Parts: sequence; C-alpha cells; structure tokens
Amino acid sequence: MKLFDVYPLFDITPVKAEGCHVWDSEGKKYLDLYGGHAVISIGHSHPTYVEKISSQLSQIGFYSNSVQNPLQKELAEKLGVVSGCEDYQLFLCNSGAEANENAIKLASFITGKKKIISYKKGFHGRTSAAVSITDNPKIIAPVNETSNAVILPFNDIQATEEALKNGDVAAVIVEGIQGIGGIHVPDEGFLVALKKLTEKYVAALILDEIQSGYGRSGKFFSYQYSDVKPDMITMAKGMGNGFPIGGVLIQPEIEPWFGMLGTTFGGNHLACAAAIAVLDVIQQEKLVENSQKVGNYLMEKLAAMNGDFEIRGKGLMIGMEFKTPIKEIRQKLLNEYGIFTGVSGQNIIRLLPPLSLSIKQADEFLNAFADVLKSLAE
Ligand SMILES: *Cc1c(COP(=O)(O)O)cnc(C)c1O
Repeated sequence: MKLFDVYPLFDITPVKAEGCHVWDSEGKKYLDLYGGHAVISIGHSHPTYVEKISSQLSQIGFYSNSVQNPLQKELAEKLGVVSGCEDYQLFLCNSGAEANENAIKLASFITGKKKIISYKKGFHGRTSAAVSITDNPKIIAPVNETSNAVILPFNDIQATEEALKNGDVAAVIVEGIQGIGGIHVPDEGFLVALKKLTEKYVAALILDEIQSGYGRSGKFFSYQYSDVKPDMITMAKGMGNGFPIGGVLIQPEIEPWFGMLGTTFGGNHLACAAAIAVLDVIQQEKLVENSQKVGNYLMEKLAAMNGDFEIRGKGLMIGMEFKTPIKEIRQKLLNEYGIFTGVSGQNIIRLLPPLSLSIKQADEFLNAFADVLKSLAE
C-alpha cells in the first residue's frame, strides 16, 4: 500500500536517539536543533521517561475515562506546581489541534457566542474549528466553515477592540509566541490589552502555548513574560516528549457539565505516565532555566555575528530570518556538519532543540553556522 504524502521528506532515516542527538540508519550522528518539531522537550530516550512508560505499560496501559485514574490527578497536581497554574482545571486530550478545538468549543458554550478572533501568521491546527482560524487558506477545505473566523493583524489592539464591539465574539485566541508563522513575539503589552478587552466584551482569552509552552520560551508558558491570566491555555507538543498528549488549562470559574467535553484516548494511563515523567525531568534538571540560559546565550552570539539576518525569539524558540531562501544553509548544516534545524516558510531558520541543550552543543551549532555562512558568501 502506498503512503499518502503529507510533507516533503528529508533524506534521512532516524533509527536511534539520545539526549540532543539522533542517529540515522547509516550510523551517522546528528545534533538535533529541530527537536522533532518542538516536541522533544526533555531530550530523546531520557532514562526516567523510558523507565516510567515501560513500567506503566507492564501495569496498565489504557482504560477509558469512565473510571478513576489516579495518574490524571498526579499529572494535574505536578503540572500545577511546575507551571504555577495551580488554580486551573485540566482537560486532557491527544494533540494540539484537539486542545484548541476543545478550548474554542468551551468558549462558545460558556459565552453563547460563535465568532473567534485570531491573528495573521497564526497557526492553530488542522481540525475544523482550529483550521478555520488559521491564517493559511491553502489548508482550509470548503467544509471547514470560516464564517466565524475573524483573522486580524498580529499586535493590533485597535482592530481587536473593533471586532469585539459587535458583541458576538466567543474567544480571542493567540499564540504565546507565533511558531510556524516564523517566531513572532507579541509586542510588550499586547496580551495584557487582550485580557482587558476580552473581560470588557465578555469573551474568553485562549493562549495557544502548544509550541511556545512547556519551558520552550524560558518560562513554563511564554505568556508568563506578561502579567496576564488567560481564561484557557492549550498545550501539546512538548508535553509528552513524543508520546501523543495534549491538554487545556481552564479557569476555575468555568463549570463543566457532563458531556460538555469528552474523549476516548485523552488522559490514558500511558500518556499520563509519559507526561508525568516529562514534568519530573523538567523539574529535576531545571530545564526551563536551562532553556532561558542557553537560549539567551545563542541569541547573544547570533546577534554578535552581525549577519544578514534578523533574530527573534525567547529561550530555545529562535527564528533567524534571511532576505533570501535558507534551503542551502540548512542543507549544508545537515550534510556537512550533521546539524538538524527547523524552518519556517522559505527564509526563516527555526531552532527548537530539546530544552536540555548544553552551551557546548550551542557552540557546536554556532561554529558550524558561521562556517556555512562564510562558505556561502565566498
Ligand atoms: C503544532 C501546533 C498546533 C497543532 O498541533 P497538532 O498536535 O499538530 O494538532 C496548534 N497550535 C500551534 C501553535 C502549534 O505549533
């Protein structure tokens, strides 16, 4: 049977991974500054993680959500402590799109309204409501109803207020730092202004932290750089370090009724075990702090290169925008230096390494990057 093509593929086949490294089927070793698309948070094949999932699987791997599951309570408790969001409620699901889909649905239930404000260059997933508010017409099918989507310029407080004034907006959704759109950090004060406006016009403020969350930005959630309290926070990518799990943090005032949300696989025993191990390692190895430290180091050194590119980001979520396509830079890094990087559009290199990246590994990248730029300039 043929596979349905979805992405253009790199010609490498990873068969083994450990920490910040990946090995391909020919035994070649790569430094992973892509983190499997911002998913690998604590590093590949972390022993604590492997042991937790394996021992859980030998006990019980799955049971449905109609019975007690103490692992969900343990996860909620730990997540509250590590994130500083103890007073929220946790809904567990399996992916980022699903987290946003449920957050949007919840916002609509509690407000009785149906318009959703989102922003240009934003990405919120590929399911129906999530894709309808994503700024990419190419991935929206006719069945993905867009009549409820209001997509505004990023950082535009005035346009947001104008749209909210109609009184039909259920939620404003915004990425803590725009990821796929090319690493765009919100302007100082933007999130605080959104919080005030959504309170005034009775809409929910949803922070999409699916890529920027879980320590990637150097804070547990990237919105925590601002003094703001979202009504809902969605998360997924780094949450399970590769094991599929997503979630929505929900303000305590939002009261559920049975059937409001639901899921078959969400919050299963294995997924919870994975997510608990991730939080344990984040805490034990101070990975949020490391993300900030190594991220700052990378950004300082990149800025000091005075190259022909703009640097944006926070923590280990870094974008470098060039004026011309970066395909060749990325290919050289991969082929000649064994360094795997991410991309955004044609001109932006995106660094999304495991949060355990060391200064020494950052230096390895910086030296290779300088060499590649020099060789291409010749
Ligand atoms: C990846 C991503 C999603 C979608 O997550 P999936 O798990 O692929 O459904 C949504 N929002 C943001 C910001 C993302 O980066």
